[in-house]
Amino acid sequence: MAVEKLKIIPLGGLNEVGKNLTVYEYGNDILVVDCGLGFPDGEMYGVDVVIPDVTYLSRNADRIRGLVLTHGHEDHIGAIPYVLKDISAPIYGTALTLALVKYKLEEHRLTDIADLREIKPGDRFSVGCFEVEAIHVNHSIACAVALAIRTPVGMLIHTGDFKIDTTPVGCPMTDLTRFGELGREGVLALLSDSTNAERKGFSPSERTVGTTLDGLLEGCDKRIIATTFASNVYRVQQLITLAAKHGRKVAITGRSMENMVAASVELGYIEIPENTLVEINKLKGLPKEQQLIITTGSQGEAMSALYRMAFGGHKQIEITAADRVILSASTVPGNEKTVSRIINELLRKGAEVLYRDVLGSLHVSGHACQEELKMILALVKPRYFIPIHGEQRHLRSHASLAVEVGVPTNRVLIGDIGRVIELGKKSIHIAGVVQAGRVLVDGTGIGDVGSVVLRDRKHLAEDGMLVVAMTLSREDNSLISGPDIISRGFVYVRESEDLIDELRMQVIDTLDACQENDIRNWTAIKASVKTALSSYLQKQIKRSPMILPIIMEN
Ligand SMILES: [Zn+2]
Ligand SMILES: [Zn+2]
Repeated sequence: MAVEKLKIIPLGGLNEVGKNLTVYEYGNDILVVDCGLGFPDGEMYGVDVVIPDVTYLSRNADRIRGLVLTHGHEDHIGAIPYVLKDISAPIYGTALTLALVKYKLEEHRLTDIADLREIKPGDRFSVGCFEVEAIHVNHSIACAVALAIRTPVGMLIHTGDFKIDTTPVGCPMTDLTRFGELGREGVLALLSDSTNAERKGFSPSERTVGTTLDGLLEGCDKRIIATTFASNVYRVQQLITLAAKHGRKVAITGRSMENMVAASVELGYIEIPENTLVEINKLKGLPKEQQLIITTGSQGEAMSALYRMAFGGHKQIEITAADRVILSASTVPGNEKTVSRIINELLRKGAEVLYRDVLGSLHVSGHACQEELKMILALVKPRYFIPIHGEQRHLRSHASLAVEVGVPTNRVLIGDIGRVIELGKKSIHIAGVVQAGRVLVDGTGIGDVGSVVLRDRKHLAEDGMLVVAMTLSREDNSLISGPDIISRGFVYVRESEDLIDELRMQVIDTLDACQENDIRNWTAIKASVKTALSSYLQKQIKRSPMILPIIMEN
């Protein structure tokens, strides 16, 4: 009998940013690590979020023994509400991660169907034939863990997102000792975060941001409004601690920030000195130099609290020249324009605005740079190395680092989503493919926006549309009324009467030609009208709107 092999199937997170999801499979057991979402690019008109295609999991639902979460970032937990019906197994995560999952499930009214099981760093628990151990790591959210997964073939380490912060805020350093011990025990394969694999050196400590923020609060006589990622609990903690130090009261605004702070305080991840936190209404009565507002909106999100403050839609806060606004965050690629809009508007209102482009030390990354990645590789000493969490360039850079540290080139494997990696005690190779890809979510519709719908949306967005309505006689297809031409996003009809008249003439000529050539089929007539109009428009004004002929019969 052939010896069972272990299968590792990434369904997201490789050669792309976001929607991290990795499947581990042995015999009849499947363990899923993370279940994240991605964000739409500029071409995906109207799409709210992107989730991994989990067809493979729904087909094998009865074999899924558990979903283990490394941390509470959207790219690791965001798809859970959408795939919960496919993965009805228990969900394991640390306290804060599960608190965030719960908020998400409440929003989707799904709390009843999830079986959430809390884990702590150091815990070992069984998921089918896998034995999983959680290891504490530093990241830009509290309560992040790496996973050691003991399988019948050997031990795997899946780092999740991490960095090594020797002077962290609010938690210990990444548990390097444990990584070293596991390395000594023998690790078959390491799957590690590649986000910053191109960056030399070490990722600066979270504490360096505290020093910068301290300087901005010191002696400042303005009201301070600060924003960061709601999930960056450590940053929020630093702001609160510094506020207390400099005699300021703190108000929190913005739903995700309020949720995050509430959950973190309850779980003990944020400590608020007594008499520091106040309602935003109460804050207003205090002198400017005693106010600090922590708000959402670091990515320029429309309708976030900072956005509403900037554009005058916030009930309590109006921006004036007596404000210092601090954006303590990086701009996620794709959000440059929205962030820029907010900064411009805040400046226009007279506020002083500090952001990363003018003050680099206002943010640090939560992901390990080259020296940290090498340290993990050197401690874990894996037989095989599989870079994850990154685009091809990041995966390649990470692969070179592994080789530099001593992993032989033929034991490094760069995978892709849907490609099955088969791992034996002494072998690694790609063995087949499974369905994988992206599913687009628009409103409550999951997957009903496919490539055809997207192509239409792109066409409509770029060229607009033209509807040609006409009534034809049932007997001989002669024109009874119309053609009427209605346009949207193409030309303003009232100012383009000549063009519209000409288009109408084109349609009438086409209908005549159809009659002469005995073309009676309406599909064929519509096609002729379409062709005639699009070649006319192309010739006359070099534009190609979507053309929709509609025939009514009389
Ligand atoms: Zn993360
Ligand atoms: Zn991530």
